Amino acid sequence: VKKNLFDKVAVLGLGLIGGSIALDLKSRRLCKTLNGYNRSRGGRIAAQRKKACDQTFARPEAAVRGADLVILATPVQHIPRLAKQVAPFLKAGAVVTDVGSTKAGIVKKISRALPRGVAFVGGHPIAGTDKSGMTAAQKNLFAGRWWLFTPGPRNQESLRALKKLQSLAEALGAKTAVLSPGEHDRILAAISHLPHLTAYSLVDAVLSFRKGRAIRYAAGGFRDFTRIAASSPEMWTDICLENRAALLAMLSRFEKSLRTLRRHIAKKNAAGLRRLFSRAAEARRRL
Ligand code: NAD
Repeated sequence: VKKNLFDKVAVLGLGLIGGSIALDLKSRRLCKTLNGYNRSRGGRIAAQRKKACDQTFARPEAAVRGADLVILATPVQHIPRLAKQVAPFLKAGAVVTDVGSTKAGIVKKISRALPRGVAFVGGHPIAGTDKSGMTAAQKNLFAGRWWLFTPGPRNQESLRALKKLQSLAEALGAKTAVLSPGEHDRILAAISHLPHLTAYSLVDAVLSFRKGRAIRYAAGGFRDFTRIAASSPEMWTDICLENRAALLAMLSRFEKSLRTLRRHIAKKNAAGLRRLFSRAAEARRRL
């Protein structure tokens, strides 16, 4: 039997991501005890029913008592507040990580909020679905996916914590990489946040046409392209505001590309269109 990396784990926020982590940790026996905190009773009951936790708590302070690893899995704007709230109750030597989709703000705020002797390493499993909540949580959600880590100031403690977290993510089947928080946010703005915005915006544009009646004829292309527009509006509002600077820069690039397309179409520039489409098609096929 593999020695546990962490004996006691607390997952704070039993939603899609926190719940799926808890399910994997329990079913793969990667820890001895798993505590879960969720503010709503429904989420706690769903976690018990799915056997995702040994014990669930209505207060985060109670859930983190004696935990060797604390995983913060609430919305990005809430994660630093949650860290501050549990800070006085953390065990000396505990490791804290989070799963937030943005990193720079979170890493900066949390590194200041935790007591000495507690190591924080930001994390982001790039996996998910357009569903949310514990009822949507599933096993093996992270298999074959990237799990990015964004350590703050490096010291021996945080390097050791990083190694253990990478091993844990790999035990869930994920591939890991280490990035600076700023670079993480710029990359995610490009590959995740901008695509969500364009999906929402495309549906919005089609809704404004013929009072939205055209949408009923939508087939494969529209459905494939807009699947992620069914994602949680609260979560995406949160992410846009948290990653404002990187997202605004990426939106400028996108606007520029749209302007190029518009110009090619207006000027009947077939060669220009074909060039842009071919370059994109080739990159997409290699994905
Ligand atoms: P979710 O809506 O499924 O779960 C959110 C959880 O946070 C729930 O347990 C909810 O009860 C709790 N919560 C919300 N507001 C709270 C508050 N004010 N106080 C206490 N608890 C609160 O969302 P999710 O998809 O699991 O996302 C959780 C985190 O994971 C977010 O930070 C998100 O950015 C990140 N993330 C999401 C995805 C994705 O695709 N869904 C992927 C990677 C990372």
